[in-house]
Amino acid sequence: MGLETNTRQPDLNCIFCKIVKGEIPSKFLLETQDVVAFNDISPQAPTHVLIIPREHVKDISKLSESAEDRALLGTLFQQAAELALKLKLENGFRLVVNTGDEGGQTVHHLHLHLIGGRQMVWPPG
Ligand code: AMP
Ligand code: ZN
Repeated sequence: MGLETNTRQPDLNCIFCKIVKGEIPSKFLLETQDVVAFNDISPQAPTHVLIIPREHVKDISKLSESAEDRALLGTLFQQAAELALKLKLENGFRLVVNTGDEGGQTVHHLHLHLIGGRQMVWPPG
Protein backbone atom coordinates (compact mmCIF):
# COMPACT_ATOMS: atom_id res chain seq x y z
CA MET A 1 0.00 0.00 0.00
CA GLY A 2 2.87 2.35 0.82
CA LEU A 3 4.06 2.33 -2.76
CA GLU A 4 0.58 2.90 -4.12
CA THR A 5 -0.04 5.97 -1.96
CA ASN A 6 3.19 7.43 -3.28
CA THR A 7 2.34 7.05 -6.96
CA ARG A 8 1.34 10.75 -7.20
CA GLN A 9 4.74 12.00 -6.05
CA PRO A 10 7.11 13.09 -8.81
CA ASP A 11 9.36 10.16 -9.65
CA LEU A 12 12.96 11.32 -10.03
CA ASN A 13 13.68 8.47 -12.44
CA CYS A 14 10.56 8.96 -14.56
CA ILE A 15 11.36 10.21 -18.05
CA PHE A 16 7.95 11.88 -18.43
CA CYS A 17 8.29 13.68 -15.07
CA LYS A 18 11.62 14.99 -16.39
CA ILE A 19 9.90 16.21 -19.55
CA VAL A 20 7.17 17.93 -17.49
CA LYS A 21 9.82 19.66 -15.36
CA GLY A 22 11.83 20.71 -18.43
CA GLU A 23 14.82 18.61 -17.40
CA ILE A 24 14.57 16.87 -20.76
CA PRO A 25 13.92 19.53 -23.39
CA SER A 26 10.76 18.90 -25.36
CA LYS A 27 8.52 21.03 -27.53
CA PHE A 28 5.06 21.07 -26.00
CA LEU A 29 2.22 21.00 -28.50
CA LEU A 30 -0.14 21.77 -25.67
CA GLU A 31 0.29 22.97 -22.09
CA THR A 32 -2.51 23.37 -19.57
CA GLN A 33 -2.52 23.49 -15.79
CA ASP A 34 -3.02 19.72 -15.68
CA VAL A 35 -1.65 18.19 -18.88
CA VAL A 36 1.08 18.59 -21.49
CA ALA A 37 1.49 17.03 -24.94
CA PHE A 38 4.59 16.39 -27.01
CA ASN A 39 5.65 14.30 -29.99
CA ASP A 40 6.53 10.67 -29.41
CA ILE A 41 10.25 10.08 -29.89
CA SER A 42 9.52 6.96 -31.96
CA PRO A 43 6.47 7.82 -34.05
CA GLN A 44 4.31 4.95 -35.27
CA ALA A 45 2.37 7.13 -37.73
CA PRO A 46 2.74 10.57 -39.38
CA THR A 47 1.17 12.06 -36.23
CA HIS A 48 2.05 10.46 -32.90
CA VAL A 49 1.59 12.65 -29.85
CA LEU A 50 1.59 11.78 -26.16
CA ILE A 51 -0.81 13.60 -23.83
CA ILE A 52 0.16 13.19 -20.19
CA PRO A 53 -0.88 14.52 -16.78
CA ARG A 54 1.72 16.79 -15.18
CA GLU A 55 1.26 14.74 -12.05
CA HIS A 56 2.99 11.36 -11.85
CA VAL A 57 0.15 8.85 -12.09
CA LYS A 58 1.57 5.41 -12.82
CA ASP A 59 -1.22 4.13 -15.03
CA ILE A 60 -4.94 4.42 -15.57
CA SER A 61 -5.69 1.77 -12.94
CA LYS A 62 -4.31 4.15 -10.30
CA LEU A 63 -7.03 6.72 -10.88
CA SER A 64 -9.78 6.83 -8.28
CA GLU A 65 -13.42 7.83 -8.47
CA SER A 66 -12.64 11.21 -6.93
CA ALA A 67 -13.93 14.29 -8.73
CA GLU A 68 -10.33 15.32 -9.27
CA ASP A 69 -9.41 12.09 -11.04
CA ARG A 70 -12.58 12.11 -13.12
CA ALA A 71 -11.77 15.64 -14.21
CA LEU A 72 -8.19 14.65 -15.06
CA LEU A 73 -9.39 11.75 -17.20
CA GLY A 74 -11.93 13.98 -18.92
CA THR A 75 -9.30 16.62 -19.58
CA LEU A 76 -6.85 14.11 -21.06
CA PHE A 77 -9.40 12.87 -23.59
CA GLN A 78 -10.90 16.27 -24.30
CA GLN A 79 -7.49 17.86 -24.90
CA ALA A 80 -6.49 14.93 -27.11
CA ALA A 81 -9.60 15.35 -29.25
CA GLU A 82 -9.04 19.11 -29.57
CA LEU A 83 -5.41 18.56 -30.48
CA ALA A 84 -6.44 15.99 -33.11
CA LEU A 85 -8.53 18.62 -34.85
CA LYS A 86 -5.73 21.20 -34.61
CA LEU A 87 -3.42 18.64 -36.21
CA LYS A 88 -5.94 18.19 -39.06
CA LEU A 89 -6.91 14.64 -38.18
CA GLU A 90 -10.56 15.28 -39.04
CA ASN A 91 -10.71 12.02 -41.04
CA GLY A 92 -9.97 10.01 -37.92
CA PHE A 93 -7.39 9.12 -35.35
CA ARG A 94 -6.69 6.59 -32.63
CA LEU A 95 -6.33 7.13 -28.87
CA VAL A 96 -4.46 4.39 -26.99
CA VAL A 97 -3.71 3.85 -23.31
CA ASN A 98 -1.29 0.97 -22.81
CA THR A 99 -1.54 -0.26 -19.23
CA GLY A 100 0.88 -2.48 -17.36
CA ASP A 101 3.53 -4.77 -18.79
CA GLU A 102 1.14 -7.08 -20.61
CA GLY A 103 -0.67 -4.04 -21.97
CA GLY A 104 2.56 -2.94 -23.61
CA GLN A 105 3.24 0.00 -21.28
CA THR A 106 6.93 0.87 -21.26
CA VAL A 107 6.85 4.28 -19.55
CA HIS A 108 5.04 4.01 -16.24
CA HIS A 109 3.61 7.53 -16.19
CA LEU A 110 0.02 7.62 -17.51
CA HIS A 111 -0.16 8.79 -21.13
CA LEU A 112 -2.59 8.86 -23.99
CA HIS A 113 -1.20 8.12 -27.45
CA LEU A 114 -2.80 10.22 -30.19
CA ILE A 115 -2.01 8.49 -33.45
CA GLY A 116 -3.12 9.47 -36.93
CA GLY A 117 -2.31 10.45 -40.47
CA ARG A 118 -2.57 6.94 -41.92
CA GLN A 119 -5.19 4.19 -42.13
CA MET A 120 -5.29 2.28 -38.84
CA VAL A 121 -5.70 -1.47 -38.75
CA TRP A 122 -7.42 -3.75 -36.26
CA PRO A 123 -6.48 -5.67 -34.15
CA PRO A 124 -3.55 -3.43 -33.19
CA GLY A 125 -1.31 -6.33 -32.12
P1 AMP B 1 4.04 3.03 -23.86
O1 AMP B 1 4.75 1.91 -24.57
O2 AMP B 1 2.55 3.06 -24.09
O3 AMP B 1 4.42 3.11 -22.41
O4 AMP B 1 4.53 4.36 -24.56
C1 AMP B 1 5.69 5.04 -24.21
C2 AMP B 1 6.03 5.90 -25.38
O5 AMP B 1 6.95 6.87 -24.95
C3 AMP B 1 6.68 5.14 -26.54
O6 AMP B 1 5.89 5.30 -27.70
C4 AMP B 1 8.05 5.82 -26.68
O7 AMP B 1 8.46 5.95 -28.01
C5 AMP B 1 7.80 7.16 -26.01
N1 AMP B 1 8.98 7.81 -25.44
C6 AMP B 1 9.94 7.27 -24.66
N2 AMP B 1 10.85 8.20 -24.31
C7 AMP B 1 10.44 9.36 -24.88
C8 AMP B 1 10.96 10.69 -24.90
N3 AMP B 1 12.08 11.03 -24.25
N4 AMP B 1 10.29 11.64 -25.58
C9 AMP B 1 9.14 11.31 -26.25
N5 AMP B 1 8.61 10.08 -26.26
C10 AMP B 1 9.24 9.12 -25.60
ZN1 ZN C 1 6.33 10.49 -14.02
